[in-house]
Amino acid sequence: MSSENKCSKSYDKFVAINELAKRRGFFWPSFEIYGGSGGFVTYGPLGTRLKQNIEAKLRELFVKKIGIYEIESSVITPAKVFEASGHVAHFKEPMVECQECHTRFRADHLLEDKGVGSAEAEKMSLEDIKIELENRNAVCPDCGCKFTNPQRYLTMFETTIGPYSGAVGYGRPEAAQNIFVEFNRLYIAAREHLPFGVIQIGHALRNEISPRQGLIRLREFTIADLEFFFNPEESSCQLLQEVENEVLPILLCETRLKESDSITKITVREALNKKIILSEWQAFFMAQAKCLLVELGVPAEKQRFIEKLPWEKAHYSSQSFDQEVLVDRWGWVEVSGHAYRTDYDLACHMKASGVDMTVYKECFEPIETEEIIVKPIMAKLGPIYKNEAGKVAAEIAKIPAQQIIDSIQSTGSFVVNNCEIKADQVDIIRQKKTDRGKRFIPHVVEPSFGCDRLFYVALEYAYGIKDDRVVMSFPREIAPVQVGIYPLMSKDGLDFKAKEVQRLLCNNGFMTELDETGSIGRRYARADEAGIQLGITIDYDTLKDNSVTIRDRDSWRQIRISLEDLTEQLHSYFKGKVNFEELGSIIKK
Ligand code: AMP
Repeated sequence: MSSENKCSKSYDKFVAINELAKRRGFFWPSFEIYGGSGGFVTYGPLGTRLKQNIEAKLRELFVKKIGIYEIESSVITPAKVFEASGHVAHFKEPMVECQECHTRFRADHLLEDKGVGSAEAEKMSLEDIKIELENRNAVCPDCGCKFTNPQRYLTMFETTIGPYSGAVGYGRPEAAQNIFVEFNRLYIAAREHLPFGVIQIGHALRNEISPRQGLIRLREFTIADLEFFFNPEESSCQLLQEVENEVLPILLCETRLKESDSITKITVREALNKKIILSEWQAFFMAQAKCLLVELGVPAEKQRFIEKLPWEKAHYSSQSFDQEVLVDRWGWVEVSGHAYRTDYDLACHMKASGVDMTVYKECFEPIETEEIIVKPIMAKLGPIYKNEAGKVAAEIAKIPAQQIIDSIQSTGSFVVNNCEIKADQVDIIRQKKTDRGKRFIPHVVEPSFGCDRLFYVALEYAYGIKDDRVVMSFPREIAPVQVGIYPLMSKDGLDFKAKEVQRLLCNNGFMTELDETGSIGRRYARADEAGIQLGITIDYDTLKDNSVTIRDRDSWRQIRISLEDLTEQLHSYFKGKVNFEELGSIIKK
Protein backbone atom coordinates (compact mmCIF):
# COMPACT_ATOMS: atom_id res chain seq x y z
CA MET A 1 0.00 0.00 0.00
CA SER A 2 1.57 3.32 -0.98
CA SER A 3 2.00 5.52 2.04
CA GLU A 4 2.20 8.71 -0.01
CA ASN A 5 -1.46 8.32 -0.85
CA LYS A 6 -2.68 7.79 2.67
CA CYS A 7 -4.83 10.58 4.01
CA SER A 8 -6.31 11.40 7.36
CA LYS A 9 -9.77 12.38 6.19
CA SER A 10 -12.14 11.69 9.05
CA TYR A 11 -15.06 10.88 6.76
CA ASP A 12 -14.37 9.18 3.50
CA LYS A 13 -15.64 6.33 1.39
CA PHE A 14 -13.96 3.79 3.68
CA VAL A 15 -16.02 4.99 6.64
CA ALA A 16 -19.19 5.38 4.55
CA ILE A 17 -18.84 1.90 3.10
CA ASN A 18 -18.16 0.28 6.46
CA GLU A 19 -21.27 1.97 7.88
CA LEU A 20 -23.38 0.98 4.90
CA ALA A 21 -21.99 -2.56 5.08
CA LYS A 22 -23.17 -2.95 8.67
CA ARG A 23 -26.53 -1.29 8.02
CA ARG A 24 -27.37 -3.33 4.95
CA GLY A 25 -25.71 -6.59 5.95
CA PHE A 26 -22.78 -6.71 3.54
CA PHE A 27 -20.20 -7.37 6.29
CA TRP A 28 -19.24 -6.37 9.82
CA PRO A 29 -16.47 -7.09 12.35
CA SER A 30 -16.89 -10.57 13.87
CA PHE A 31 -17.45 -11.49 17.52
CA GLU A 32 -18.88 -8.08 18.42
CA ILE A 33 -20.81 -9.35 21.45
CA TYR A 34 -17.48 -10.32 23.03
CA GLY A 35 -15.80 -7.04 22.18
CA GLY A 36 -14.62 -8.13 18.73
CA SER A 37 -11.29 -9.48 17.53
CA GLY A 38 -9.33 -7.49 14.93
CA GLY A 39 -8.84 -8.93 11.48
CA PHE A 40 -11.94 -11.12 11.30
CA VAL A 41 -15.15 -10.25 9.46
CA THR A 42 -18.54 -11.83 8.97
CA TYR A 43 -20.16 -11.48 5.58
CA GLY A 44 -23.91 -10.94 5.90
CA PRO A 45 -26.59 -12.13 3.48
CA LEU A 46 -25.93 -9.46 0.83
CA GLY A 47 -22.15 -9.63 1.24
CA THR A 48 -22.03 -13.40 1.00
CA ARG A 49 -23.91 -13.27 -2.29
CA LEU A 50 -21.74 -10.49 -3.64
CA LYS A 51 -18.58 -12.36 -2.68
CA GLN A 52 -19.91 -15.55 -4.24
CA ASN A 53 -20.65 -13.63 -7.43
CA ILE A 54 -17.10 -12.25 -7.48
CA GLU A 55 -15.67 -15.73 -6.95
CA ALA A 56 -18.00 -16.97 -9.69
CA LYS A 57 -16.39 -14.42 -12.03
CA LEU A 58 -12.96 -15.86 -11.19
CA ARG A 59 -14.26 -19.36 -11.91
CA GLU A 60 -15.96 -18.30 -15.11
CA LEU A 61 -12.82 -16.60 -16.37
CA PHE A 62 -10.18 -19.13 -15.34
CA VAL A 63 -11.96 -22.47 -14.95
CA LYS A 64 -14.61 -22.21 -17.69
CA LYS A 65 -12.96 -20.00 -20.29
CA ILE A 66 -9.30 -20.97 -19.91
CA GLY A 67 -9.74 -24.54 -18.70
CA ILE A 68 -7.82 -24.23 -15.42
CA TYR A 69 -8.51 -27.13 -13.03
CA GLU A 70 -9.89 -26.32 -9.59
CA ILE A 71 -9.02 -28.12 -6.37
CA GLU A 72 -10.02 -27.83 -2.73
CA SER A 73 -7.58 -28.78 -0.02
CA SER A 74 -7.04 -28.37 3.72
CA VAL A 75 -6.22 -25.17 5.58
CA ILE A 76 -4.18 -26.90 8.31
CA THR A 77 -0.87 -28.03 6.90
CA PRO A 78 1.97 -30.09 8.43
CA ALA A 79 4.99 -27.93 9.32
CA LYS A 80 7.20 -29.89 6.89
CA VAL A 81 5.40 -28.32 3.93
CA PHE A 82 6.10 -24.75 5.03
CA GLU A 83 9.61 -25.59 6.15
CA ALA A 84 10.34 -26.94 2.67
CA SER A 85 8.68 -24.00 0.89
CA GLY A 86 10.74 -21.46 2.85
CA HIS A 87 7.75 -19.89 4.64
CA VAL A 88 8.92 -20.83 8.14
CA ALA A 89 12.16 -18.96 7.45
CA HIS A 90 10.75 -16.04 5.46
CA PHE A 91 7.08 -15.42 6.23
CA LYS A 92 7.95 -12.78 8.80
CA GLU A 93 7.22 -9.10 9.31
CA PRO A 94 9.17 -6.54 11.38
CA MET A 95 7.34 -5.74 14.61
CA VAL A 96 7.73 -3.37 17.55
CA GLU A 97 5.87 -3.33 20.85
CA CYS A 98 4.91 -0.28 22.90
CA GLN A 99 6.90 -0.40 26.16
CA GLU A 100 3.93 0.96 28.09
CA CYS A 101 0.63 -0.40 26.66
CA HIS A 102 2.28 -3.41 24.93
CA THR A 103 0.33 -2.90 21.70
CA ARG A 104 2.26 -4.33 18.75
CA PHE A 105 2.72 -2.63 15.41
CA ARG A 106 4.19 -3.40 11.98
CA ALA A 107 7.45 -1.48 12.16
CA ASP A 108 7.56 -0.86 8.39
CA HIS A 109 4.03 0.58 8.45
CA LEU A 110 5.03 2.97 11.26
CA LEU A 111 7.94 4.12 9.11
CA GLU A 112 5.63 4.57 6.13
CA ASP A 113 3.39 6.76 8.32
CA LYS A 114 6.51 8.85 9.01
CA GLY A 115 7.13 9.38 5.30
CA VAL A 116 9.50 6.51 4.48
CA GLY A 117 8.62 4.92 1.12
CA SER A 118 7.28 1.35 1.38
CA ALA A 119 10.04 0.02 -0.90
CA GLU A 120 12.69 1.63 1.29
CA ALA A 121 11.11 0.36 4.53
CA GLU A 122 10.89 -3.17 3.15
CA LYS A 123 14.65 -3.21 2.46
CA MET A 124 15.74 -2.24 5.97
CA SER A 125 17.47 -4.48 8.48
CA LEU A 126 16.12 -4.58 12.04
CA GLU A 127 18.97 -2.28 13.10
CA ASP A 128 18.10 0.23 10.32
CA ILE A 129 14.46 0.16 11.37
CA LYS A 130 15.40 0.83 15.00
CA ILE A 131 17.58 3.81 14.06
CA GLU A 132 15.04 5.21 11.61
CA LEU A 133 12.17 4.95 14.15
CA GLU A 134 14.28 6.80 16.71
CA ASN A 135 15.43 9.46 14.22
CA ARG A 136 11.85 10.10 13.21
CA ASN A 137 10.61 10.19 16.82
CA ALA A 138 8.09 7.43 16.19
CA VAL A 139 6.01 6.70 19.30
CA CYS A 140 3.01 4.48 20.03
CA PRO A 141 -0.01 5.91 18.17
CA ASP A 142 -2.24 4.72 21.01
CA CYS A 143 -0.45 6.03 24.13
CA GLY A 144 2.52 8.07 22.90
CA CYS A 145 5.23 5.92 24.57
CA LYS A 146 8.45 4.44 23.18
CA PHE A 147 8.86 1.11 21.42
CA THR A 148 10.92 -2.00 22.17
CA ASN A 149 13.61 -3.08 19.70
CA PRO A 150 12.13 -4.36 16.45
CA GLN A 151 12.03 -8.12 15.85
CA ARG A 152 10.89 -10.34 12.99
CA TYR A 153 7.59 -12.03 13.73
CA LEU A 154 6.34 -15.18 12.00
CA THR A 155 2.85 -14.36 10.77
CA MET A 156 1.67 -17.93 10.30
CA PHE A 157 -0.80 -19.35 12.84
CA GLU A 158 0.82 -22.34 14.53
CA THR A 159 -1.08 -25.30 15.93
CA THR A 160 -0.53 -28.95 16.82
CA ILE A 161 -2.02 -31.73 14.73
CA GLY A 162 -3.70 -34.42 16.87
CA PRO A 163 -4.14 -34.25 20.65
CA TYR A 164 -0.92 -35.94 21.82
CA SER A 165 1.39 -36.04 18.85
CA GLY A 166 3.02 -32.65 19.30
CA ALA A 167 3.26 -32.54 15.49
CA VAL A 168 3.39 -28.88 14.51
CA GLY A 169 1.00 -27.62 11.86
CA TYR A 170 0.36 -24.19 10.37
CA GLY A 171 -2.76 -22.52 9.06
CA ARG A 172 -1.87 -21.97 5.40
CA PRO A 173 -1.03 -18.33 4.65
CA GLU A 174 -1.70 -18.99 0.91
CA ALA A 175 -3.37 -21.72 -1.08
CA ALA A 176 -0.47 -22.36 -3.47
CA GLN A 177 1.51 -24.94 -1.51
CA ASN A 178 -1.45 -27.38 -1.53
CA ILE A 179 -1.16 -27.33 -5.31
CA PHE A 180 2.62 -27.88 -5.40
CA VAL A 181 2.62 -30.78 -2.94
CA GLU A 182 -0.10 -32.54 -4.99
CA PHE A 183 1.68 -31.89 -8.28
CA ASN A 184 2.26 -35.53 -9.26
CA ARG A 185 -1.42 -36.45 -8.93
CA LEU A 186 -2.53 -33.25 -10.65
CA TYR A 187 -0.16 -33.93 -13.55
CA ILE A 188 -1.77 -37.35 -14.02
CA ALA A 189 -5.23 -35.69 -13.86
CA ALA A 190 -3.99 -33.32 -16.59
CA ARG A 191 -3.19 -36.46 -18.66
CA GLU A 192 0.53 -35.86 -18.24
CA HIS A 193 0.46 -32.89 -20.52
CA LEU A 194 1.96 -29.40 -20.12
CA PRO A 195 0.98 -26.61 -19.91
CA PHE A 196 -1.83 -26.78 -17.39
CA GLY A 197 -3.05 -24.68 -14.50
CA VAL A 198 -4.67 -25.35 -11.15
CA ILE A 199 -6.60 -22.84 -9.05
CA GLN A 200 -7.61 -23.03 -5.43
CA ILE A 201 -10.05 -20.53 -3.95
CA GLY A 202 -10.21 -20.85 -0.18
CA HIS A 203 -9.40 -19.44 3.21
CA ALA A 204 -5.88 -18.33 4.11
CA LEU A 205 -4.70 -17.40 7.59
CA ARG A 206 -2.13 -14.73 8.41
CA ASN A 207 -1.60 -13.56 11.95
CA GLU A 208 -1.28 -9.93 10.84
CA ILE A 209 0.39 -7.74 13.45
CA SER A 210 -2.03 -4.82 13.56
CA PRO A 211 -4.92 -5.20 11.10
CA ARG A 212 -6.67 -1.84 11.11
CA GLN A 213 -7.78 -1.55 7.51
CA GLY A 214 -11.05 -3.46 7.43
CA LEU A 215 -11.33 -5.87 4.53
CA ILE A 216 -7.94 -4.84 3.18
CA ARG A 217 -5.99 -6.57 5.94
CA LEU A 218 -7.63 -9.56 7.56
CA ARG A 219 -6.27 -12.41 9.64
CA GLU A 220 -8.55 -14.85 7.83
CA PHE A 221 -9.33 -14.09 4.22
CA THR A 222 -10.14 -15.74 0.92
CA ILE A 223 -7.33 -16.19 -1.52
CA ALA A 224 -7.49 -17.41 -5.12
CA ASP A 225 -4.10 -18.88 -6.03
CA LEU A 226 -3.61 -20.05 -9.60
CA GLU A 227 -0.45 -22.03 -10.39
CA PHE A 228 0.24 -22.41 -14.10
CA PHE A 229 2.80 -25.10 -14.97
CA PHE A 230 4.72 -25.04 -18.25
CA ASN A 231 7.86 -26.33 -19.91
CA PRO A 232 10.44 -23.48 -19.72
CA GLU A 233 11.76 -24.54 -23.15
CA GLU A 234 8.26 -24.31 -24.65
CA SER A 235 7.10 -21.23 -22.84
CA SER A 236 4.94 -19.53 -25.46
CA CYS A 237 1.34 -18.82 -24.53
CA GLN A 238 -1.11 -20.23 -27.07
CA LEU A 239 -3.78 -17.73 -25.98
CA LEU A 240 -1.61 -14.62 -26.23
CA GLN A 241 -3.35 -13.39 -29.38
CA GLU A 242 -6.51 -12.79 -27.37
CA VAL A 243 -4.81 -10.18 -25.19
CA GLU A 244 -1.72 -8.99 -27.09
CA ASN A 245 -3.17 -5.52 -27.75
CA GLU A 246 -4.41 -5.04 -24.21
CA VAL A 247 -2.68 -2.00 -22.66
CA LEU A 248 -1.06 -2.61 -19.27
CA PRO A 249 -0.35 0.43 -17.09
CA ILE A 250 2.95 -0.44 -15.39
CA LEU A 251 5.04 1.38 -12.81
CA LEU A 252 8.45 -0.02 -13.71
CA CYS A 253 11.34 -0.76 -11.35
CA GLU A 254 13.57 1.69 -13.23
CA THR A 255 10.97 4.46 -12.79
CA ARG A 256 10.55 3.63 -9.11
CA LEU A 257 14.29 3.78 -8.55
CA LYS A 258 14.18 7.37 -9.86
CA GLU A 259 11.57 8.06 -7.15
CA SER A 260 8.93 8.73 -9.79
CA ASP A 261 5.51 7.13 -10.03
CA SER A 262 4.88 7.81 -13.69
CA ILE A 263 3.12 4.99 -15.48
CA THR A 264 4.34 3.29 -18.63
CA LYS A 265 1.35 2.32 -20.75
CA ILE A 266 2.39 -0.56 -22.90
CA THR A 267 0.64 -3.33 -24.79
CA VAL A 268 1.14 -6.93 -23.73
CA ARG A 269 3.01 -7.61 -26.98
CA GLU A 270 5.39 -4.66 -26.51
CA ALA A 271 6.01 -5.50 -22.85
CA LEU A 272 7.12 -8.98 -23.96
CA ASN A 273 9.19 -7.75 -26.90
CA LYS A 274 11.01 -5.28 -24.65
CA LYS A 275 11.46 -7.99 -22.00
CA ILE A 276 9.62 -5.86 -19.44
CA ILE A 277 7.61 -8.99 -18.67
CA LEU A 278 9.70 -12.14 -18.91
CA SER A 279 7.03 -14.80 -19.31
CA GLU A 280 4.27 -14.82 -21.94
CA TRP A 281 1.96 -16.66 -19.57
CA GLN A 282 2.57 -14.08 -16.86
CA ALA A 283 1.70 -11.26 -19.29
CA PHE A 284 -1.42 -13.19 -20.34
CA PHE A 285 -2.65 -13.50 -16.75
CA MET A 286 -1.87 -9.83 -16.02
CA ALA A 287 -4.07 -8.82 -18.95
CA GLN A 288 -6.82 -11.14 -17.71
CA ALA A 289 -6.53 -9.61 -14.23
CA LYS A 290 -6.93 -6.11 -15.66
CA CYS A 291 -10.08 -7.12 -17.58
CA LEU A 292 -11.47 -8.91 -14.52
CA LEU A 293 -11.18 -5.75 -12.44
CA VAL A 294 -12.90 -3.73 -15.19
CA GLU A 295 -15.73 -6.26 -15.08
CA LEU A 296 -15.94 -5.80 -11.31
CA GLY A 297 -16.46 -2.08 -11.89
CA VAL A 298 -12.92 -0.67 -11.53
CA PRO A 299 -12.06 1.48 -14.59
CA ALA A 300 -8.72 0.77 -16.28
CA GLU A 301 -7.39 4.23 -15.33
CA LYS A 302 -7.82 3.41 -11.65
CA GLN A 303 -5.58 0.35 -11.97
CA ARG A 304 -1.85 -0.14 -12.30
CA PHE A 305 0.76 -2.88 -12.12
CA ILE A 306 3.76 -2.14 -9.96
CA GLU A 307 6.94 -4.04 -10.68
CA LYS A 308 8.51 -5.28 -7.46
CA LEU A 309 12.07 -4.27 -6.66
CA PRO A 310 14.50 -7.14 -6.03
CA TRP A 311 14.28 -6.85 -2.23
CA GLU A 312 10.47 -6.53 -2.27
CA LYS A 313 9.87 -9.79 -4.12
CA ALA A 314 8.72 -12.88 -2.25
CA HIS A 315 11.54 -15.36 -1.62
CA TYR A 316 10.26 -17.64 -4.38
CA SER A 317 9.83 -15.14 -7.18
CA SER A 318 12.11 -14.24 -10.08
CA GLN A 319 9.84 -11.46 -11.38
CA SER A 320 6.80 -9.99 -9.64
CA PHE A 321 4.15 -7.41 -10.37
CA ASP A 322 1.37 -6.34 -8.02
CA GLN A 323 -1.92 -5.26 -9.51
CA GLU A 324 -3.09 -2.21 -7.59
CA VAL A 325 -6.36 -0.28 -7.45
CA LEU A 326 -6.71 3.31 -6.29
CA VAL A 327 -9.05 3.59 -3.29
CA ASP A 328 -10.23 6.65 -1.44
CA ARG A 329 -8.70 6.12 2.03
CA TRP A 330 -5.69 3.91 1.39
CA GLY A 331 -4.34 5.08 -1.94
CA TRP A 332 -3.00 2.30 -4.17
CA VAL A 333 -3.93 -1.11 -2.75
CA GLU A 334 -2.69 -4.46 -4.03
CA VAL A 335 -5.53 -6.69 -5.19
CA SER A 336 -3.51 -9.38 -6.92
CA GLY A 337 0.10 -10.50 -7.14
CA HIS A 338 1.71 -11.92 -10.30
CA ALA A 339 4.88 -13.89 -9.66
CA TYR A 340 7.12 -15.92 -11.92
CA ARG A 341 7.99 -18.68 -9.40
CA THR A 342 10.19 -20.64 -11.88
CA ASP A 343 10.77 -24.21 -10.54
CA TYR A 344 11.42 -22.95 -7.00
CA ASP A 345 8.51 -24.65 -5.20
CA LEU A 346 8.59 -28.04 -6.93
CA ALA A 347 12.38 -28.17 -6.49
CA CYS A 348 12.04 -27.39 -2.75
CA HIS A 349 9.42 -30.09 -2.21
CA MET A 350 11.42 -32.59 -4.26
CA LYS A 351 14.48 -31.97 -2.14
CA ALA A 352 12.64 -32.09 1.19
CA SER A 353 10.36 -35.06 0.46
CA GLY A 354 12.72 -37.09 -1.72
CA VAL A 355 9.83 -37.59 -4.18
CA ASP A 356 10.58 -37.09 -7.86
CA MET A 357 8.45 -34.27 -9.26
CA THR A 358 10.11 -33.99 -12.64
CA VAL A 359 8.14 -34.66 -15.80
CA TYR A 360 9.34 -36.59 -18.84
CA LYS A 361 9.27 -35.13 -22.29
CA GLU A 362 9.99 -37.20 -25.35
CA CYS A 363 12.28 -35.48 -27.86
CA PHE A 364 11.42 -35.24 -31.55
CA GLU A 365 14.84 -36.68 -32.32
CA PRO A 366 16.82 -38.91 -29.95
CA ILE A 367 19.75 -37.07 -28.35
CA GLU A 368 23.16 -38.81 -28.40
CA THR A 369 25.41 -37.99 -25.46
CA GLU A 370 28.70 -39.33 -24.16
CA GLU A 371 28.68 -40.80 -20.67
CA ILE A 372 31.96 -40.91 -18.71
CA ILE A 373 32.38 -43.48 -15.96
CA VAL A 374 35.33 -43.53 -13.53
CA LYS A 375 35.79 -47.16 -12.45
CA PRO A 376 38.17 -47.85 -9.51
CA ILE A 377 40.62 -50.73 -10.19
CA MET A 378 40.12 -52.80 -7.02
CA ALA A 379 43.18 -54.96 -7.70
CA LYS A 380 45.25 -51.80 -7.18
CA LEU A 381 43.23 -50.13 -4.38
CA GLY A 382 42.91 -53.40 -2.33
CA PRO A 383 46.61 -53.81 -1.39
CA ILE A 384 46.87 -50.09 -0.48
CA TYR A 385 43.64 -49.47 1.45
CA LYS A 386 42.92 -53.03 2.65
CA ASN A 387 39.52 -53.13 4.51
CA GLU A 388 38.82 -49.49 3.59
CA ALA A 389 39.15 -50.12 -0.17
CA GLY A 390 35.37 -50.59 -0.64
CA LYS A 391 34.64 -47.30 1.12
CA VAL A 392 37.21 -45.43 -0.99
CA ALA A 393 35.63 -46.85 -4.15
CA ALA A 394 32.19 -45.71 -2.97
CA GLU A 395 33.52 -42.18 -2.32
CA ILE A 396 35.09 -42.08 -5.81
CA ALA A 397 31.65 -42.86 -7.29
CA LYS A 398 30.21 -39.73 -5.65
CA ILE A 399 32.62 -37.32 -7.39
CA PRO A 400 31.52 -36.00 -10.81
CA ALA A 401 33.57 -37.77 -13.51
CA GLN A 402 34.60 -34.53 -15.22
CA GLN A 403 36.05 -33.20 -11.95
CA ILE A 404 38.24 -36.33 -11.65
CA ILE A 405 39.41 -36.04 -15.27
CA ASP A 406 40.30 -32.36 -14.80
CA SER A 407 42.30 -33.14 -11.67
CA ILE A 408 44.15 -36.07 -13.28
CA GLN A 409 44.96 -33.92 -16.32
CA SER A 410 46.50 -31.16 -14.21
CA THR A 411 48.15 -33.12 -11.34
CA GLY A 412 48.12 -36.78 -12.39
CA SER A 413 45.89 -37.72 -9.43
CA PHE A 414 42.82 -36.68 -7.44
CA VAL A 415 41.97 -36.64 -3.76
CA VAL A 416 39.09 -38.38 -2.06
CA ASN A 417 38.67 -38.36 1.75
CA ASN A 418 42.32 -37.36 2.18
CA CYS A 419 43.48 -40.31 0.00
CA GLU A 420 45.40 -39.48 -3.14
CA ILE A 421 44.23 -41.69 -6.02
CA LYS A 422 46.67 -41.95 -8.93
CA ALA A 423 45.64 -41.97 -12.59
CA ASP A 424 46.60 -45.66 -13.02
CA GLN A 425 44.34 -46.73 -10.11
CA VAL A 426 41.13 -45.97 -12.08
CA ASP A 427 39.81 -46.76 -15.54
CA ILE A 428 38.11 -43.91 -17.43
CA ILE A 429 35.39 -45.40 -19.62
CA ARG A 430 33.61 -43.34 -22.25
CA GLN A 431 30.40 -44.71 -23.72
CA LYS A 432 27.73 -43.37 -26.06
CA LYS A 433 24.22 -42.94 -24.64
CA THR A 434 20.97 -42.29 -26.55
CA ASP A 435 18.27 -40.31 -24.77
CA ARG A 436 14.79 -40.50 -26.26
CA GLY A 437 13.54 -37.72 -23.97
CA LYS A 438 14.47 -35.80 -20.90
CA ARG A 439 13.19 -35.08 -17.43
CA PHE A 440 12.75 -31.53 -16.08
CA ILE A 441 10.94 -29.58 -13.39
CA PRO A 442 8.09 -27.47 -14.81
CA HIS A 443 8.14 -23.71 -14.34
CA VAL A 444 5.27 -21.83 -12.75
CA VAL A 445 3.65 -18.42 -13.09
CA GLU A 446 1.17 -17.49 -10.43
CA PRO A 447 -1.60 -14.93 -10.37
CA SER A 448 -2.90 -14.66 -6.80
CA PHE A 449 -6.04 -12.68 -5.97
CA GLY A 450 -7.30 -11.55 -2.57
CA CYS A 451 -11.07 -12.03 -2.85
CA ASP A 452 -11.88 -9.76 0.10
CA ARG A 453 -9.94 -6.94 -1.53
CA LEU A 454 -11.75 -7.58 -4.84
CA PHE A 455 -14.95 -7.36 -2.80
CA TYR A 456 -13.89 -4.10 -1.17
CA VAL A 457 -12.90 -2.38 -4.42
CA ALA A 458 -16.15 -3.58 -6.05
CA LEU A 459 -18.05 -1.90 -3.19
CA GLU A 460 -16.00 1.28 -3.40
CA TYR A 461 -16.40 1.66 -7.15
CA ALA A 462 -20.12 0.84 -6.97
CA TYR A 463 -20.67 3.48 -4.27
CA GLY A 464 -22.34 6.66 -5.47
CA ILE A 465 -24.65 9.38 -4.20
CA LYS A 466 -27.73 10.46 -6.17
CA ASP A 467 -30.11 13.08 -4.76
CA ASP A 468 -28.51 12.62 -1.32
CA ARG A 469 -29.13 8.89 -1.42
CA VAL A 470 -26.60 6.07 -1.65
CA VAL A 471 -26.81 3.99 -4.80
CA MET A 472 -24.63 0.89 -5.09
CA SER A 473 -24.18 0.59 -8.86
CA PHE A 474 -22.64 -2.88 -9.11
CA PRO A 475 -22.06 -4.24 -12.61
CA ARG A 476 -25.16 -6.26 -13.37
CA GLU A 477 -23.31 -9.58 -13.38
CA ILE A 478 -22.31 -9.30 -9.73
CA ALA A 479 -25.32 -7.50 -8.20
CA PRO A 480 -26.09 -9.48 -5.03
CA VAL A 481 -29.81 -9.37 -5.80
CA GLN A 482 -30.94 -9.19 -9.39
CA VAL A 483 -34.59 -8.30 -8.99
CA GLY A 484 -36.57 -6.70 -6.15
CA ILE A 485 -40.34 -7.21 -6.17
CA TYR A 486 -42.62 -4.60 -4.67
CA PRO A 487 -46.40 -4.83 -4.42
CA LEU A 488 -47.74 -1.25 -4.35
CA MET A 489 -50.01 -2.26 -1.42
CA SER A 490 -49.94 -5.31 0.77
CA LYS A 491 -53.62 -6.01 0.05
CA ASP A 492 -56.25 -6.32 -2.70
CA GLY A 493 -54.47 -9.29 -4.24
CA LEU A 494 -51.35 -7.24 -5.08
CA ASP A 495 -49.43 -9.09 -2.35
CA PHE A 496 -50.57 -12.42 -3.75
CA LYS A 497 -49.61 -11.42 -7.31
CA ALA A 498 -46.17 -10.27 -6.09
CA LYS A 499 -45.49 -13.70 -4.56
CA GLU A 500 -46.58 -15.33 -7.82
CA VAL A 501 -44.14 -13.14 -9.78
CA GLN A 502 -41.38 -13.97 -7.31
CA ARG A 503 -42.00 -17.73 -7.74
CA LEU A 504 -41.88 -17.29 -11.50
CA LEU A 505 -38.52 -15.52 -11.31
CA CYS A 506 -37.03 -17.90 -8.71
CA ASN A 507 -38.03 -20.89 -10.81
CA ASN A 508 -36.23 -19.29 -13.73
CA GLY A 509 -32.99 -18.92 -11.82
CA PHE A 510 -33.09 -15.26 -10.78
CA MET A 511 -31.93 -14.01 -7.40
CA THR A 512 -34.89 -12.05 -6.01
CA GLU A 513 -36.08 -10.27 -2.92
CA LEU A 514 -39.68 -9.40 -2.02
CA ASP A 515 -40.15 -6.20 -0.03
CA GLU A 516 -43.66 -5.35 1.11
CA THR A 517 -43.03 -2.86 3.91
CA GLY A 518 -42.95 0.95 3.82
CA SER A 519 -43.75 3.43 1.09
CA ILE A 520 -42.65 2.51 -2.42
CA GLY A 521 -40.11 5.38 -2.31
CA ARG A 522 -38.49 4.00 0.85
CA ARG A 523 -38.38 0.54 -0.67
CA TYR A 524 -36.64 1.86 -3.78
CA ALA A 525 -34.12 3.72 -1.56
CA ARG A 526 -33.40 0.54 0.41
CA ALA A 527 -32.98 -1.41 -2.82
CA ASP A 528 -30.57 1.17 -4.24
CA GLU A 529 -28.39 0.91 -1.12
CA ALA A 530 -28.38 -2.86 -1.42
CA GLY A 531 -27.43 -2.62 -5.08
CA ILE A 532 -30.52 -4.48 -6.33
CA GLN A 533 -30.29 -4.14 -10.08
CA LEU A 534 -33.96 -3.97 -11.08
CA GLY A 535 -37.21 -3.36 -9.18
CA ILE A 536 -40.54 -4.78 -10.30
CA THR A 537 -43.63 -2.98 -9.05
CA ILE A 538 -46.95 -4.78 -8.94
CA ASP A 539 -49.80 -2.24 -9.15
CA TYR A 540 -53.53 -2.28 -9.79
CA ASP A 541 -52.96 -2.28 -13.57
CA THR A 542 -51.02 -5.51 -13.18
CA LEU A 543 -54.22 -7.25 -12.10
CA LYS A 544 -56.00 -5.89 -15.17
CA ASP A 545 -53.45 -6.24 -17.98
CA ASN A 546 -50.79 -8.63 -16.58
CA SER A 547 -48.03 -6.05 -16.99
CA VAL A 548 -45.52 -4.70 -14.46
CA THR A 549 -43.26 -1.70 -14.06
CA ILE A 550 -39.52 -2.32 -13.98
CA ARG A 551 -37.27 0.33 -12.45
CA ASP A 552 -33.56 0.61 -13.17
CA ARG A 553 -31.39 1.14 -10.07
CA ASP A 554 -28.89 3.49 -11.68
CA SER A 555 -30.96 5.72 -13.99
CA TRP A 556 -34.23 5.38 -12.01
CA ARG A 557 -35.92 5.06 -15.38
CA GLN A 558 -39.03 2.91 -15.61
CA ILE A 559 -40.48 0.72 -18.33
CA ARG A 560 -43.65 -1.31 -18.61
CA ILE A 561 -43.50 -4.94 -19.69
CA SER A 562 -45.94 -7.81 -20.02
CA LEU A 563 -45.45 -10.66 -17.52
CA GLU A 564 -45.50 -13.06 -20.46
CA ASP A 565 -42.23 -11.59 -21.77
CA LEU A 566 -40.66 -11.01 -18.38
CA THR A 567 -38.36 -14.01 -17.85
CA GLU A 568 -37.06 -14.14 -21.41
CA GLN A 569 -36.33 -10.42 -21.43
CA LEU A 570 -34.65 -10.54 -18.03
CA HIS A 571 -32.42 -13.42 -19.16
CA SER A 572 -31.30 -11.33 -22.15
CA TYR A 573 -30.74 -8.32 -19.93
CA PHE A 574 -28.60 -10.13 -17.34
CA LYS A 575 -26.59 -11.79 -20.10
CA GLY A 576 -25.81 -8.28 -21.33
CA LYS A 577 -27.63 -8.79 -24.65
CA VAL A 578 -30.09 -5.90 -24.23
CA ASN A 579 -30.07 -2.54 -22.44
CA PHE A 580 -32.61 -1.55 -19.87
CA GLU A 581 -34.46 0.66 -22.38
CA GLU A 582 -34.88 -2.30 -24.73
CA LEU A 583 -36.74 -4.35 -22.13
CA GLY A 584 -40.15 -2.76 -22.70
CA SER A 585 -41.88 0.57 -23.33
CA ILE A 586 -40.44 3.52 -21.43
CA ILE A 587 -42.88 5.17 -19.05
CA LYS A 588 -40.55 7.34 -16.92
CA LYS A 589 -37.32 8.94 -18.06
P1 AMP B 1 0.43 -12.28 -1.34
O1 AMP B 1 0.62 -13.76 -1.30
O2 AMP B 1 0.90 -11.57 -0.10
O3 AMP B 1 0.88 -11.63 -2.61
O4 AMP B 1 -1.17 -12.10 -1.29
C1 AMP B 1 -1.97 -12.42 -2.39
C2 AMP B 1 -3.18 -11.52 -2.37
O5 AMP B 1 -3.92 -11.75 -1.17
C3 AMP B 1 -2.83 -10.03 -2.33
O6 AMP B 1 -2.74 -9.53 -3.65
C4 AMP B 1 -4.00 -9.43 -1.61
O7 AMP B 1 -5.04 -9.14 -2.52
C5 AMP B 1 -4.48 -10.54 -0.69
N1 AMP B 1 -4.06 -10.36 0.71
C6 AMP B 1 -2.81 -10.51 1.22
N2 AMP B 1 -2.82 -10.33 2.55
C7 AMP B 1 -4.10 -10.07 2.90
C8 AMP B 1 -4.76 -9.80 4.14
N3 AMP B 1 -4.10 -9.79 5.28
N4 AMP B 1 -6.09 -9.58 4.12
C9 AMP B 1 -6.78 -9.59 2.96
N5 AMP B 1 -6.22 -9.85 1.77
C10 AMP B 1 -4.90 -10.09 1.73
